[in-house]
Amino acid sequence: MPVLCSSCDDKRAVLKRPKTGHSLCKACFFRAFEEEVHQTILAANLFKHGEIVGIAASGGKDSTVLAHVMKLLNERYNYGLELMLLSVDEGISGYRDDSLETVKRNQQQYELPLKIVSYEELYGWTMDAIVKQVGLKNNCTFCGVFRRQALDRGALMLRVDKICTGHNADDVAETVLMNILRGDIARLRRCTAISTSSEGEGVVPRCKPLKYAYEKEIVLYAYFKKLDYFSTECIYSPNAYRGHARTFLKDLESVRPSSIMDIIHSGENLSVREGVKMPVQGTCNRCGYISSQTLCKSCVLLEGLNRGLPKLGIGKHHRLHDKILTQQPLTEKEERKLKSVNF
Ligand code: SF4
Ligand code: ZN
Repeated sequence: MPVLCSSCDDKRAVLKRPKTGHSLCKACFFRAFEEEVHQTILAANLFKHGEIVGIAASGGKDSTVLAHVMKLLNERYNYGLELMLLSVDEGISGYRDDSLETVKRNQQQYELPLKIVSYEELYGWTMDAIVKQVGLKNNCTFCGVFRRQALDRGALMLRVDKICTGHNADDVAETVLMNILRGDIARLRRCTAISTSSEGEGVVPRCKPLKYAYEKEIVLYAYFKKLDYFSTECIYSPNAYRGHARTFLKDLESVRPSSIMDIIHSGENLSVREGVKMPVQGTCNRCGYISSQTLCKSCVLLEGLNRGLPKLGIGKHHRLHDKILTQQPLTEKEERKLKSVNF
């Protein structure tokens, strides 16, 4: 006998919600998913009427669902937001070029303006060229640092008040685990925040409306709504450490689905003991972007690339950063150390 939807008790259930275990029909699942995002937005007071909001769009399932749901809720509940899509082109052939085609179709489907900023135009380097120089071990460090700044620069060009990103509950739980494993107290404190206020010059506030949405439900939502998204993995995706955290989290989830939410709650409730030294936020002496060092990470990585010293931004070389900033020559030993690609 077919199982009836436990919410409407009328239609046939087509899925079991990964988050709650409830058997629901399509319409009730859509409504439940959308309402939860709406409640997340209300509870955290994420937006103000009249704001311009940039949706970070990669063409992947998370940002496609985010764009779809943001547009829908904005109309259903009259948020009064002006929505735009903001994409970063990292310059990864065979991956980003294809996913950007998806974003361009989304732009038509959702009738939202789209801005694409590229690493090549911002930094003079594509990820293809970076991987050629640094290899496949630390490429995601470059990519992550550059993306963060690229999104900010794109947002400033579009004059948006806020950026929202498609980070979901699994991403947040995974990041909590990673920061615990690395003992990164400063990041651990920040990573569960649903929104960041403007942290400094050139930084646009960000928020995560899908923070409590399970990845499995995002996939189901996209699938049943027949959303147009791109599902191929990046060809340079060796991020082994995150991969382990992800596998660990998936194993935990299969035993106890609430693990994801439990880890987020643990992260939210951890507080830092008084007297623990935290990095002081200042601005980069070269580009003016926020940084706790003299040079921001992006400028250091870029300097390393331009000088053929790929190791420069990896690990801690603060003394060398100051030397570079003041244009002092590096010793032969320092050059040799930074030149070896074998990180
Ligand atoms: Fe960039 Fe790494 Fe993500 Fe690929 S997997 S897009 S290289 S951060
Ligand atoms: Zn800088």
